[in-house]
Amino acid sequence: MKMPEKQRRYCPNCDTHTEHTVRKESQGPRLNPSAHSKGQRKGERREKGYGNSGKSSKQVSGEKPTRRVDLRYKCEECGREQTIGRGFRVKRLEIER
Ligand SMILES: [Zn+2]
Repeated sequence: MKMPEKQRRYCPNCDTHTEHTVRKESQGPRLNPSAHSKGQRKGERREKGYGNSGKSSKQVSGEKPTRRVDLRYKCEECGREQTIGRGFRVKRLEIER
């Protein structure tokens, strides 16, 4: 889908509706690759051969056709950036200038 770059949105800092610039947040690298969750470590142990395969046995392969977008709205008045909601699922997002 296409989205206009400039949108009129509510800014909680200015407490009114102002012009906002939309941008997509890029996914950065993981901060600490050694620190992962208990479930992840469990899965790694299972893959090595300990225990049974658990929930990995019924894991479906393949990517989902859509991804959730991570959008940031920057207020033109005060310059603050907001994340609004959790985004939405879309195949491809274009920000129009
Ligand atoms: Zn503002």
